[in-house]
This record gives sequence, structure tokens and C-alpha cells, in this order.
Amino acid sequence: MKNYNLIIFGISAAIVASVSYALMPSESEKERIIEVLEATTPATNTIASLDKTKILPEIPANNLHTEHYPVQAGDSLSGIFRKLKLSFTDLYHITHAKPHGRDFAKILPGKTLEIKTDKDGNLEQLIYPRNILETLIATRSKEGFAVELISKDIEARISSAQAIISSSLYVDGKKAGLPDRLIMQLADIFAWDVDFALNLRPGDQFTVLYKTLYVDDKEIMTGDIIAAEFVNRGKTYTAVMFEDEDGKTNYYTPDGRSMRKAFLRTPVDFARISSRFNLRRKHPVLNKIRAHKGVDYAAKTGTPVKTTGDGKVTFRGHKGGYGRVVIVQHGQHYSTLYAHLSKYKSGLRKGDQVKQGEVIGYVGKSGLATGPHLHYEFRIDGAHRNPLTVKLPHHKPINKYLMAEFKRQTSPLLAQLEQTKKTLLAKNGN
Ligand SMILES: [Zn+2]
Repeated sequence: MKNYNLIIFGISAAIVASVSYALMPSESEKERIIEVLEATTPATNTIASLDKTKILPEIPANNLHTEHYPVQAGDSLSGIFRKLKLSFTDLYHITHAKPHGRDFAKILPGKTLEIKTDKDGNLEQLIYPRNILETLIATRSKEGFAVELISKDIEARISSAQAIISSSLYVDGKKAGLPDRLIMQLADIFAWDVDFALNLRPGDQFTVLYKTLYVDDKEIMTGDIIAAEFVNRGKTYTAVMFEDEDGKTNYYTPDGRSMRKAFLRTPVDFARISSRFNLRRKHPVLNKIRAHKGVDYAAKTGTPVKTTGDGKVTFRGHKGGYGRVVIVQHGQHYSTLYAHLSKYKSGLRKGDQVKQGEVIGYVGKSGLATGPHLHYEFRIDGAHRNPLTVKLPHHKPINKYLMAEFKRQTSPLLAQLEQTKKTLLAKNGN
């Protein structure tokens, strides 16, 4: 893309959230933060992260003996109990303690168990640092053993960034201080609405709110985007994260429709459009006027072709000038066609169910084609429509019964997004 000489600004400013709602790290963010911490902290095996008051003190009066046992490959907790001549009744009580006892069954090699026994060799406490943030502690109690999971809190704070596009999403995103992962996430969220490779214009802009994750008041990493706005060619798209009852997070429009559409706009990545939908086109091979009822994407032979929506393969085979063809039916009204393939996805059969984005074949020039390209058609009730301009139906919206919860979670975020946009724009003299 040409480098237009427009002003650029990118500001990444930490904004303190109004604390009217709790911003929690998601499960996947928790996993990532543990990964990051363990990769960057040398002694992952320590129980340094532990609340020391939970550990039995080793004062002589107790005559406690502490043993450190490095877990080996192939070790099981019962094997270790046998090796160390510990009681199997105790083992039973530990692994059956609710709710975390069973986690002791999942000990991993490379970690070190801390075992405290009394003067007669009876187990008093078992400590397992599961990861850098979480430690399991089993302590003898009247009923057998009490098992606690002690974990450090991950605190999520809201950060924001804004940029006006002058070269590309990636370059301007970097200038705005966004890490690669967040730029990719931004592109994924708006992938159904904005063609970042072909359709960005100078002056397009985005504002994004995202989580920054802290442990012990120390910034560890950026989390996920929680709300974002993208203005593309004067059109504004807004997305907000919502966590459903299963803890799954997805992005929605402010009125609760999924940002995902039932169809991808394009079936091939890294391709350029070589011929558009045109009902009066001169055919390049036949050299006479013949409607071009699809879009051609020029790409190297072998480039994967993806089905643009969930559906069922209704045809897989040769079709005259189309060469190797796959047709996918999407519910009652929609169907898509992929032609001139060099080969089909191996094992693909008529009747197969396919998922949006699944590879069904590879670009080629079978049939009447001057060079390798994909010919793609989009039909509604049998009628050809222009795949580049047809209004694509949305993926399933928020369930009606979740709507109140959706509004409760998302309205403060959207208000903050709006406020941030104004603040950052004002700061930059607009
Ligand atoms: Zn074509």
C-alpha cells in the first residue's frame, strides 16, 4: 500500500477503570500468564509464591521432619507414598478431600513435593507447587486431611490505545504501542467487516480497550481486547467482549449480534482479485460476452481454499469449464461454489459436513482457465450474488435470556470506550 503522508498518532495510555464492575482474567489469560512467568522466572520450583502462614512451622517442639521430593517422570502420588512408606489411608483422605484433593493426582515431573512428617513418620502436611501462581497444601485435620489451593491473584486493569491508519494496521498498531498479539486479535475481531489487506484507507482509525495483567502489583503482560471500535472508510464498527455462562468469551456488536458472520468474505488468503462479478464480461478464453457470476482470486497453485461458511458438501467433481469443483450448501438458502481447483482436500466427500474456514481444496487451473485462480460463487436461493457486496448474515446472536446480563457486562465497557476515544482524540488535537 502507498505511504500517504498523513499525520499519525498513536497513544497508549493507562486508564484507571471506574471500579463499578470486576474485570477478571479469563482462563486462557491465566494459562498464558503462568506460561510467561514460568519462562521468565528462574526458580519455578519454589513455594515462594506461598502464603507462609499456611505452612506448618518447623519448630523443634513439633519434631517435624521436612523432606523435598523431586517428582520423576513416571511417578504417581501412590508410588511416592509407597517409596516413602507413608500411609495409604492418608493418601486416600488427601485425594478425596473436596474440592482440590483430586488435583494431587496430577503431579508433574520437574516439580518438588514438600513432605512434613512427625517424629513417628506420620504425614502432617504435603505441599505441591502446581505452578508459579498456585500451590496445593494438604494439612492433617480431625477428619483426615484438608486440602487448600493457595493462589496469587491476577489483577486485570484496563489499558487503551488509539491510532489513525497511515500505512497498515500492523505498522500503525505498533506505533500505538500494541503488541503483535493484540494487533492480530484486533484483525480477527473485525475480519468479517474490514478487509485489512485490500480495503484500509488513510484516515481509518481505531480505539481499543484491553486488559493489562498484574501479579503483585507488577505488570506481567497484556491480556485480551475487551472493547474496540474501528472506523473503515467512514463506517464505524464496534465490538465488545462478552463472557457467557460457560466462561467462553466472544465479541459482539453493542446490540448483541456476533461479530462473526455466517460467511467469510474471502475463501483464500494472500490472493488478489483478478476478476470481479460482472454480468457482461468478455470471457478471456472463449473470447465472447459471457456473464461472470463470481469473483476470481489469483493465487499460486496449491494455495488452500477455505469454505466460507458451515455447511454440507453437495458436489465434488468435474463440471465442464469449471474443472474441479466443490459446492457447499449452507442451510436452506445459501450455497457457495469453488472452481478450477488443482485438487480436493484429501478425503473430502459429497455429504461431508464442513466448518467455516475449513480447507476443502487447493487453487489450480483445471477446466477453462488461463492461469491458476479460484473462481468463487455465492448464491441465495439459487440466484448468483456478488460475493464482495452481498450482505452477509450474522452468526448466532446472544441468547435472549442472556441479554440483560450482556447489557450489564458490556455497557460500562462501551461507555468507557466512547470516553477513551474522545479523550485521546482531544489530546491529539482533533
Ligand atoms: Zn471466474
